[in-house]
Amino acid sequence: MKKILITGGAGFVGSHLAKRLLSEGNEIICLDNYFTGNKNNIVKLLDNPFFEMVRHDITEPYYAEVDEIYNLACPASPVHYQYNPIKTMKTSVMGAINTLGLAKRVNAKILQASTSEVYGDPHVHPQPESYWGNVNPIGIRSCYDEGKRCAETLFMDYHNQNKVAVKIIRIFNTYGPNMNPSDGRVVSNFIVQALKGENITIFGDGLQTRSFQYVDDLVEGMIRMMNTDDSFLGPVNIGNPNEFTMLELAETVIELTGSNSKIIHLTLPQDDPKQRQPDISLAKEKLQGWEPKVQLREGLQTTIAYFDSLLMHEK
Ligand code: NAD
Ligand code: UDP
Ligand code: UDP
Repeated sequence: MKKILITGGAGFVGSHLAKRLLSEGNEIICLDNYFTGNKNNIVKLLDNPFFEMVRHDITEPYYAEVDEIYNLACPASPVHYQYNPIKTMKTSVMGAINTLGLAKRVNAKILQASTSEVYGDPHVHPQPESYWGNVNPIGIRSCYDEGKRCAETLFMDYHNQNKVAVKIIRIFNTYGPNMNPSDGRVVSNFIVQALKGENITIFGDGLQTRSFQYVDDLVEGMIRMMNTDDSFLGPVNIGNPNEFTMLELAETVIELTGSNSKIIHLTLPQDDPKQRQPDISLAKEKLQGWEPKVQLREGLQTTIAYFDSLLMHEK
């Protein structure tokens, strides 16, 4: 049995990771300040004596004795990370320093949840890990993009300078149950709008693309990454290479929900990347042939069922 710390453990991805690692017989500490996370995501785990929930802000030092750390604490949707951009940057940078300091002290392996946003609005498509990206350092997305880039630097430097065993993954757009219905991300927005019969809001012409990964595929990739023997591995892209336009996504959601919602077009936000698709060759090579298994329609159906029951409870 390993003792595993998950920062951001009450969030969307963290709650799935906690459930899976707990089911495999590990002892889990979830740390969260509940900024975008929700106790409902982990309430079913609270009865398990090997699960512990800690309210803590990762910009402050944290002490525990653990074998592994998954560092996920950070708001992930544009609406939330832009709400208090200075705090977002502090969470990424000071959160990385504190979790790396902890990993150094207790000799734990540590995995950083980085993001495809480090590629910015990419000039290389699809994006391999060797691409350095095209990021605006002073735009509205910078607190997140540059914060995550800085965290990657810190992970590399703690490995080089202090011999900490580190892993970095770059996560591409991920969706599934436990997403926050009001966090403004496209999959949750479209599903909630379709279920409520409201207009589906496409930003811009809807021809921009994203590659959507179902959360179970991400969790599998994260665990395989942590379990590699390398004392340094990464960055490794973890995403689903199947690419869709926002228009295609909207039409699929309307079809699967049987909704009468109409599509409307709103202004495209500043610095919105035009396309994004992971090159996952490295993940396949390093993580024993890992690749996404869940196709978009299948994953959307589970996610629609989740939001449907959530909205029923609200009534
Ligand atoms: P989320 O917002 O659901 O989860 C983040 C969690 O971190 C929340 O529970 C939040 O309350 C917590 N948190 C935020 N600031 C904190 C702080 N200062 N101290 C302690 N806890 C704090 O988002 P998610 O989608 O689950 O993302 C998890 C991680 O994966 C994030 O680091 C995100 O950047 C990364 N990621 C996610 C995606 C995606 O598509 N979901 C894509 C790329 C990267
Ligand atoms: N830290 C922490 N938990 C620990 C060990 C360290 O939160 O178990 C914090 C510590 O407070 C410091 C940061 O991690 O702010 C970086 O620690 P490191 O040892 O690398 O640097 P130093 O303490 O020398 O600044
Ligand atoms: N988007 C949209 N309607 C929405 C929310 C988002 O058309 O209601 C678009 C957004 O402009 C972007 C894409 O969907 O082009 C993905 O947005 P999201 O915020 O989910 O992720 P990110 O931009 O961080 O990849």
